[in-house]
Amino acid sequence: MLPALLVSRSSIAENSSRVCSLCRSAGVEVFGVTKGVCGDPRIASAMLEGGCSGLADSRLENIARMREAGLKGPFMLLRIPSPSRIGEVARLADVVLVSEGEVLRALDEACASEGRRVQALLMVDVGDLREGIWPDEVRSIGRVLGGLRWVRPIGVATNVGCFGGVLPDSRNMGLLLEVKEALEEVLGEGLPVASGSGTVGLRLVEEGTMPAGINQLRIGEAILLGRDTTGDRVIGYLRQDTMRLQAEVIEVKRKPSVPIGEVGLDAFGRKPAFVDRGVRRRALLALGKQDVHPSSLTPLEEGVEVLGASSDHTVLDVEGYRGRLEVGQVLSFSLDYPGMLSCFTSPYVEKRVV
Ligand SMILES: *Cc1c(COP(=O)(O)O)cnc(C)c1O
Repeated sequence: MLPALLVSRSSIAENSSRVCSLCRSAGVEVFGVTKGVCGDPRIASAMLEGGCSGLADSRLENIARMREAGLKGPFMLLRIPSPSRIGEVARLADVVLVSEGEVLRALDEACASEGRRVQALLMVDVGDLREGIWPDEVRSIGRVLGGLRWVRPIGVATNVGCFGGVLPDSRNMGLLLEVKEALEEVLGEGLPVASGSGTVGLRLVEEGTMPAGINQLRIGEAILLGRDTTGDRVIGYLRQDTMRLQAEVIEVKRKPSVPIGEVGLDAFGRKPAFVDRGVRRRALLALGKQDVHPSSLTPLEEGVEVLGASSDHTVLDVEGYRGRLEVGQVLSFSLDYPGMLSCFTSPYVEKRVV
């Protein structure tokens, strides 16, 4: 069936193994992040085979899916829990990232009624401004953590590079370690885990500048795509050929490069802009924004340019394509992280793991 996303399990296992052995040599364990592939168990298991200590996902549905497939985890819930789903958190997660005292108390109660212990990492905002306690809250939330019976604090975690685009450095990683010490003081015990960041933290490990004490990273993009978007780089020692999207050509015609007639807004309410390049050969794909945004696509064949898309059609300029391009032919694209995410989420894209 087309469109199809072809995923190479062995390339992902190889990336996982390279990332894990690099990190292991710096005393850092890796949780493989599966949210980009909707917790696909075939891919999650490749992460574990490569040496990940556990699996991490932002969605309870994905953790449930991996558990049902028989994966042993341990499973970390990456998104701080929703109060309305606290029972599921208590049933499904082994490690939870948390930042709200009230939610911690509710989770402790839910765990008590499930009879199931859960570990907690206190999420600290070191400046990226997404989730996490502000460092001056550590004492008050530390007292909450100290009073729980079923939820056991095991350390601290932070997220950078996601909302604010902040890069990890010795200052913000150092701040995380300071908050950890303050928490240990409140609790009167040492805590084993300081979880640094996602893919963007790999560079510090490579350069040997990750502050001692940061002993865990949660890695998705590097393993899945061999890239680091926040750090704006292709990671040289990893594979980028982990997946490609295939879509079918449904029309090939020569057309002008500028629309004819009075122009309003496009199907998504934007004013389209065109450069007049004369009459060009163009192809239409049976693929649209409902599957993947066109800006996420990089053509793998030469002479193919992505012009744009509506919900169900992607428009290509194929003037530079050598040879005959026919209706029914299949073209291939690589994807960026948002593109991978939306292809995995679209029920119209077949996921073929080979
Ligand atoms: C998504 C996510 C990650 C993984 O990020 P990558 O850049 O894909 O490695 C790590 N931690 C948290 C909290 C996340 O939400």
